[in-house]
Amino acid sequence: MLTSLSFQAPCIEMNKLNNLWFHLTGFTCNLKCRHCYSSCSPVNKSRKFLNLEKIKQTLNDTNKEHLEEIYLFGGEPLLHRDINNIIRLCIKRSNVNILTNATLINDKKARFLRQIELDSDYEIIFRVGLDHYKEHKNDELRGKGSFRKALNGISNLVNSDFNPIITAVNLWGEEEAEFKAGFLELLAQFDFEVSEINLKIIPAIKTGEYAKNFTSYSENELVTNESFRQSNPERFDCVNSRVITENGVYVCPTLVNDPRGKIGETLTDSAQKFFLELSTCYSCQSANKKMFNNDWNQ
Ligand code: SF4
Ligand code: SF4
Repeated sequence: MLTSLSFQAPCIEMNKLNNLWFHLTGFTCNLKCRHCYSSCSPVNKSRKFLNLEKIKQTLNDTNKEHLEEIYLFGGEPLLHRDINNIIRLCIKRSNVNILTNATLINDKKARFLRQIELDSDYEIIFRVGLDHYKEHKNDELRGKGSFRKALNGISNLVNSDFNPIITAVNLWGEEEAEFKAGFLELLAQFDFEVSEINLKIIPAIKTGEYAKNFTSYSENELVTNESFRQSNPERFDCVNSRVITENGVYVCPTLVNDPRGKIGETLTDSAQKFFLELSTCYSCQSANKKMFNNDWNQ
């Protein structure tokens, strides 16, 4: 992974594999959001779906690891035809996080998944992408009708006793306190205990559709040794995560769409250090919090 920039970029070594990500559906999604950093869409078939055997094999390979969380994502992971078996398999090892737009979660699906959770020692945690608490603002990014469908999905999850976490990108630059307050008010309509932990606000990743429709990184948006010294390395997702894709192992979910994010063919050869030389790393540094992994101490 050495490049001409490596000599000046700081690096991170994975200390433990606590967070295991499965890129289930590649870049295929039922939505086509204008800010999607991976340019996911219904017609993006550029990466194959992950097959069940590979997931089984990976879980066997990590038998001795202390996994704290497993994450299923895409694209839209609920489009995977084996999703129920995948969840059943993963929840034997740890909590399972499903990163979804919630538009495909009907009442039957929510009740079914709740039963899987009840039969297990671990939890299913839903992370629902919703970008604004006002319908028109959300839908200008995520497509007409997506707000109502997502709220319906959230309602079905809550009725089945799930406690979903909303993930939003504050593209409008609203004051974070005001932005959070808007979401808390929206979620108050559902009958569940909402707290700050139910909101994960992350900055935009300026690649893919975001770069096409808005703006991309400027030349000086890079992690330097000096700026890195002032950061807390524990806040970077790559310090304790890896992503299994159909095309090998990637260092973090942010970089699954960038060949430079590939760190190995198998987990065994993917523990090497990674140079933070990409502009996306600058987003992680600026966020100063875990961008994708759960952070229960936020
Ligand atoms: S942002 Fe999420 S919901 Fe939207 S296209 Fe990308 S993967 Fe799909
Ligand atoms: S994008 Fe973030 S999580 Fe990924 S390698 Fe760079 S700093 Fe680490």
